[in-house]
Amino acid sequence: MPRYDLHAHSTHSDGLLTPLELVQRAAARGVDVLALTDHDELSGVAEASVEAEAANLRFIAGAELSVSWRDLTLHVLGLRIDPSSAGLRDGLAKIRAGRAERARRIGASLADAGIPDAYHGALRFVTSDRLISRTHFARFLIEAGHVREMRDVFKRYLVRGKPGHVEHRWAELPEAIAWIRAAGGRAVLAHPGRYKVAPMALRELLTEFRDAGGDGIEVLSPSHTAAQVTDFACYARRLGLLASSGSDYHGPGESYVDLGDMPSLPSGVTPVWHDW
Ligand code: AMP
Ligand code: MN
Ligand code: MN
Ligand code: MN
Repeated sequence: MPRYDLHAHSTHSDGLLTPLELVQRAAARGVDVLALTDHDELSGVAEASVEAEAANLRFIAGAELSVSWRDLTLHVLGLRIDPSSAGLRDGLAKIRAGRAERARRIGASLADAGIPDAYHGALRFVTSDRLISRTHFARFLIEAGHVREMRDVFKRYLVRGKPGHVEHRWAELPEAIAWIRAAGGRAVLAHPGRYKVAPMALRELLTEFRDAGGDGIEVLSPSHTAAQVTDFACYARRLGLLASSGSDYHGPGESYVDLGDMPSLPSGVTPVWHDW
C-alpha cells in the first residue's frame, strides 16, 4: 500500500523547510504520495512538483484555506487542485490580504500584555513576504523566553481569551469550497477535532460542509486522539464523506509526527485518494 501524507507546510507559509527540502525529507522517509498544503498559498507548489519528479514521489498540489464559520476559524484543505486556477488564486490572495493588518493588531495586543515589539520580532521569522501567521509570533515568543515550546504557546498566547488574540474574518465556507472545486480539487475539512464546538454544532458544521460541496474530512491527524479518529471515521461513513490523512508537518523540532509516520486509515472509510 502506498504511503500517503496529504497535509504539510513549507517556508511559503509557516513551515521550516523549503518545498525542495520537504519533498526530499518525505521521499527519504518513505512517503509515496505527498501534498504540499501551505496556508492560503500556492507559490511553493512549482518547486515541490519539480523536486518530486526527481525524488520519484507522487506530488499533489494543495493549499490549506483559512475560513470563518460562525465565530470559529476553520481550515479547509484543497487537494489535487489545478495551481493555475484563476478563481482559486484570486481567492487565496483575498484571504492573504488581511494578514499583515491582523499581524499588527496581534502585535498591539501583545504590547498591551507587556510584550513590546512582537510584530517586528515575528517578522524576523517570516520566510515569505506574502504571508505572516501566528506561528511566526509563536517562534518569537519562544525565542524571547516567554514560553518554552510550541505546544505551550497556544495555551497561553494567541488564542481566544489570551494575549495576542484578535478576531479576524477569513473566507466564508461556501466560497472557499467553491474555489477549490472550481480548481478541480477536493475540499477536505482539516483536523476537525481541533474546533471548539459542542457535539450538536459539530454535526451542523459537517452537514453544512458536505451540503456546500465539501468532499471529505481529515480523519487521521496528529491533532486527534484515538477516540476522535474513531468518531470522525464514523462521521465520514454516515455523512458520505471521504477520509483523508496528513501529518500537518511544519518542520524538525516543531512537529511531533514526522512526514510518513501516520498510521493507516481505519477500515470502513473511503480514502480521499480512492480514484487517484
Ligand atoms: P494563523 O493562520 O495565522 O491563525 O496561524 C495558524 C497556525 O498556528 C496553525 O497553522 C499552526 O501552525 C499554528 N497553531 C495554531 N494552534 C496551534 C496549536 N495548538 N499547537 C501548535 N500550533 C498551532
Ligand atoms: Mn501552520
Ligand atoms: Mn490547520
Ligand atoms: Mn496545516
